[in-house]
Amino acid sequence: MTEDPPLEDISLPSEAYIALRCDLLVIGDSIITDRHHASGGNYDPTDPANQIGGTIPSFSLSGWLRHGMERAIQRRGGTACHPGEANANFKKSDVYERDLEDGYHPKGACRERGTPCLLAELFGELGGPPGTLLRRPIRFSPVRSAVTYEDGEAEGHYRRLSRHIASRNRDDGRQSLRSVELDAVANLDGTWYLHFREPSPASFGLLAAAVDFLAERRMDFMHQLGGARNNGAGIIEPTLCNPLYSTRELRRVFNRSRKPTAAMDEADEEWADTVRPACEKALQTRIDATDMEATDA
Ligand SMILES: [Zn+2]
Repeated sequence: MTEDPPLEDISLPSEAYIALRCDLLVIGDSIITDRHHASGGNYDPTDPANQIGGTIPSFSLSGWLRHGMERAIQRRGGTACHPGEANANFKKSDVYERDLEDGYHPKGACRERGTPCLLAELFGELGGPPGTLLRRPIRFSPVRSAVTYEDGEAEGHYRRLSRHIASRNRDDGRQSLRSVELDAVANLDGTWYLHFREPSPASFGLLAAAVDFLAERRMDFMHQLGGARNNGAGIIEPTLCNPLYSTRELRRVFNRSRKPTAAMDEADEEWADTVRPACEKALQTRIDATDMEATDA
């Protein structure tokens, strides 16, 4: 493991929370609901009054975050670990080589040289050591008071949407040819809980940089989340919750009737003026160290 520059007096937690807001999230059919608990056999998935909660798996979120981290590393002059195996059966034969000329190094090549890059360290590799960044699914509930933000939960309203593909032939009178059912969560508002098994200033620097990038690019198709994105879904507004907040302070962020305390303002200042820049610096040092070896090799 690479040593980060000593950052005395700065202690970073192992938990990180990304506050997420999204008007409409559609991630294929992979939203898992708890309707079998709540329905009592009378569940109507299209009823606006249903009280269905559920789980958003972390797979899509994880890919979305990783993509942001790759860009953050490339913007700082480094190359990112390619997410795919070199011998994978890509649909376009030259895609891997093309990526390698465009800001990526072969997956795991960094580890073979001795120092895994941050992406390899955080996300791990198939058949290699597991990643050190644990990404949890998000539990959502339509009942705001039932949401525990410090456990990575969110307010969200589940609906099953039905869409019909209508015939274009005038004689058919817009007869439905086919119907499609989609799982969707609307008005998502809450936290995504991440856990660093080995928290370091560089990894917090990378997380903060990636979240900023994803927030800035949220209207780009490439950086939206999940399927059905052409229909306005998947536009996520992410914010990294101040890692210096206590659990009580984190809860307060989501309490609409409370304003930040003076201590929270102070913590915000400390994060912005001291800790975040130190994490940025550690990130840059780590990127330069990993990529220097790439050029030497
Ligand atoms: Zn790598």
